[in-house]
Amino acid sequence: MGLFSKINRGLKKTRDSMSGAINSALYGKNEIDDEFYEDLEEILIMADCGVSTSEEIVSKLKDIVFKKNIHRASDVKKEIKNIVSDLLTGGEEVDMITVPSVILVIGVNGVGKTTSIGKMAALFKSEGKKVILGAADTFRAAAIDQLEIWADRAGVDIVKHKEGADPAAVVFDTISAGIARNCDIIICDTAGRLHNKKNLMEELNKIYRVMDRQLPYADREIFLVLDATTGQNAVNQAKEFMEVAEVTGIILTKLDGTAKGGVVLSIKHDLKVPVKFVGVGEGIDDLRYFDAKEFAEGLFESTEEKQ
Ligand code: GDP
Ligand code: MG
Repeated sequence: MGLFSKINRGLKKTRDSMSGAINSALYGKNEIDDEFYEDLEEILIMADCGVSTSEEIVSKLKDIVFKKNIHRASDVKKEIKNIVSDLLTGGEEVDMITVPSVILVIGVNGVGKTTSIGKMAALFKSEGKKVILGAADTFRAAAIDQLEIWADRAGVDIVKHKEGADPAAVVFDTISAGIARNCDIIICDTAGRLHNKKNLMEELNKIYRVMDRQLPYADREIFLVLDATTGQNAVNQAKEFMEVAEVTGIILTKLDGTAKGGVVLSIKHDLKVPVKFVGVGEGIDDLRYFDAKEFAEGLFESTEEKQ
């Protein structure tokens, strides 16, 4: 199956609800009137695009419709799609050039950190890169076991300590092993205990210090994982994390199970953090690099029948 159809399929629920509602709002209209713009704004907000982002989309659309003197419903949709695509574009590249490069994955429990790490490991490996994982979520033994299962599945090495071990020590050993084994990419899992911000901040700072000491010049990404099914809550969660951690990119998971895919716009526009990957299922190949154009396309058009 092509890359295109996976995202497209993953966005089905959001597309059906959002694009379907836009079609209904446009249906039978001879003029693009104020009522339509009001409906559109409401539809976008309902799809979790966020209030200010929705307002901006509508205001941009008004401008374009006026300037280009657009009347046809299909043309309006095309313009909305272009606006969305433009809004989503920028910063989505994943630049992991140094050998090794390090990725730290953070986020609350259950959002899909460990699963996304497994998928990333498989993805990078398929690009010919050598990957090593660090089980720095030492909070529960099950978390370590789960990462090990993913390491096996992806066919990559893993460094682990016992439950309750110091996460920074795991990161230290993982980086050491990564350097010794000539790995290209080191990915570390973490526990998501946001309910104690001070602890989280201290724990992360300790991990950063380890990274600074061992790999001062390495490319480093701090990926925050967000669960798309939680819609605007994911945005609020991100704001809280960004108070304590320097987030360089978002992995947005579970798009396949939700009609709240519009949240991607809110993340990009309100938080000003790029989405780097999207998760569209539980399988090992259900993680994709974020592509703004493809995503915008998927929000408005079903391409499944073309496959
Ligand atoms: P963690 O606590 O953040 O490490 O979350 P996990 O990686 O353990 O994932 C929690 C649950 O979400 C698991 O059941 C995963 O299979 C599921 N999950 C993760 N990513 C996706 C996704 O993109 N789509 C779907 N449908 N489920 C996902
Ligand atoms: Mg986990």
